[in-house]
Amino acid sequence: RHKEKWAATAPRIPSTRLALHHFDTSYSLHLGALWPSVRAGLLCEQKYGALLNNFAAADHVPEELELLNATDFISEALQKVQQWQRGAAVGEAATGCQEGSGEGRTGMQAEIVAQAEMSSPLCTSISSKIKCYTFPRGDITRFRPARPDGLGLLDYYLMDAASLLPVLALDVQPDDFVLDLCAAPGGKTLALLQTGFCGHLAANDVSVSRTKRLYQILQSYVPKEVRDTVSVTSYDGRDWDQVKGGTFHKVLVDVPCTTDRHSAMEEDNNIFHRRRTKERQMLPMLQLQLLMAGILAARPGGAVLYSTCSLSPLQNECVVERALDVAQAQFNISIHPEDLSHFRTLFQDTFSFFSECRLGELVLPHLTANFGPMYFCKLRRE
Ligand code: SAM
Repeated sequence: RHKEKWAATAPRIPSTRLALHHFDTSYSLHLGALWPSVRAGLLCEQKYGALLNNFAAADHVPEELELLNATDFISEALQKVQQWQRGAAVGEAATGCQEGSGEGRTGMQAEIVAQAEMSSPLCTSISSKIKCYTFPRGDITRFRPARPDGLGLLDYYLMDAASLLPVLALDVQPDDFVLDLCAAPGGKTLALLQTGFCGHLAANDVSVSRTKRLYQILQSYVPKEVRDTVSVTSYDGRDWDQVKGGTFHKVLVDVPCTTDRHSAMEEDNNIFHRRRTKERQMLPMLQLQLLMAGILAARPGGAVLYSTCSLSPLQNECVVERALDVAQAQFNISIHPEDLSHFRTLFQDTFSFFSECRLGELVLPHLTANFGPMYFCKLRRE
């Protein structure tokens, strides 16, 4: 009796403090000397990007944003690649190097050629239709709220710009069948639609209330004729195989995670609340099951993109590594992780990347570029 009363009146430790304590213990080991600066980033105001809505009549918006010194980080990266490629071509011509031969290059030329070669996969694949404006490093200007056009469609969607990297890595091609397995509230679904390439888009989320927010976003940003090509469902993603297996060219598995930035800053809906300990401990298992469902939903030759907004290797690389084993052992499916290191080269002006992921890429929060965390890893089904 006495013990019960004591337990009921003991001061409650804020969930944000529990989260930070947990992060201090595990991330200081994982990130080493980088952790103090990442921690400071997590605790400061995050930066947003403005994803332009190609469906809205908002031709004036790029000019308006450029006057404020914002730039489209995607087209900027593509321009950089073109410059490298031109530099590489000039270097080759000047030294008379043959393609594939490194002889006769100076160190600088070799670096330009290496950068151009590393970045060329993205150059050929990136959908330049996605446009996202960000303010330069160190500039913490805020975007104005989105405005409706004459038909009521909003001109841009404010989101963590790092959330676009998984969508860009997915590399949607014309007429692809695309599955967004954990889609709500719908930021990445909207970005997938901005490519203009989805032959069919299935957007699923187990949460009915969050699915309502997804509908609202589609309503606010996408015209009816395009909305009609999207099928929104509320299945448990782990059962997707029973709905439609092996049919999609591209699958996005943006799993529930410890949402580190939210957990460090907000008491509301915090997964570090003591009552949610079990749920939090079970996250890697849920993530693995969702990733497996995504793998089974992809057709042979198709691609699966796994992403989280956590820094935790247990929720990132470990889940991917386990999925590769399970796919082989239980389903006889071979999966190959794809190298995305060219993303680091291309987008280094906008984001801070962690250079030591065993698999996939990780955007680290940083005071001068306070996006992320965002982990993403691309898998190709044989
Ligand atoms: N992709 C979304 C976006 O960009 O706006 C964010 C997705 S959020 C990180 C993870 C989502 O997974 C949540 O909306 C949650 O409701 C959903 N979820 C959790 N468990 C699920 C399950 N078993 N099946 C499908 N969705 C699930």
